[in-house]
Amino acid sequence: MTVLTGEDFRQFVIAMAGAITDNAERLTTLDSAIGDGDHGANMKRGFDAVVGDIDVLAEKSFAEATKAAGLKLVMTVGGASGPLVGTFFMTLGKELPEGIDRKSLAAAFATATAAVAARGKSERGQKTLLDVLYPLHAAIAAGADAAGMARAAQAAAEATIPVKATRGRASFLGDRSIGHMDPGSASVALLADAAARVWAART
Ligand code: ADP
Ligand code: MG
Repeated sequence: MTVLTGEDFRQFVIAMAGAITDNAERLTTLDSAIGDGDHGANMKRGFDAVVGDIDVLAEKSFAEATKAAGLKLVMTVGGASGPLVGTFFMTLGKELPEGIDRKSLAAAFATATAAVAARGKSERGQKTLLDVLYPLHAAIAAGADAAGMARAAQAAAEATIPVKATRGRASFLGDRSIGHMDPGSASVALLADAAARVWAART
């Protein structure tokens, strides 16, 4: 069991924000292909805002900081993805116990993923970020190590390429959405990779 602190939260945020910044252009290119080309900028705006609050957040418990960051993301990311990514972190923060082990992480992750699905009125298989959240949960629950979690998320993002979008802006394209990676899925894979590295260094 690992007890994470607000200072640990700082490390997670810096890693995740860095991954989004480094890949913002790629995320925007993906969203230009099947959306409106703002996803990289949306995510970067949100994570930059969380980084801007990090000294205050790091004073809180890990769970409270996660909740507050989620709220910040809801308010700053914008687009369809803002409320969804924000809801994920808000719910995760609500659900995480003080001492985190694989079982409690998997349970909190499952509840947070379900909250995203409810908020988005969406389900797995529609070429949205849920297509990465569910397989990532499965990897966590199955006992994957940090590298395995990151690999599962990346593979799941790649698996959205041949899927036809039936939810979100990309669904307006119908069959023309086929052949492109879902931008929100690409973001979640980046966040998972960054978070898994910090987790591996911490545990
Ligand atoms: P917008 O589509 O409003 O421009 P973004 O470009 O920031 O917002 O985010 C698009 C991403 O949001 C998509 O790639 C998809 O993963 C995710 N998304 C959109 N609508 C939904 C939904 N109803 N449920 C789950 N995810 C969704
Ligand atoms: Mg967009």
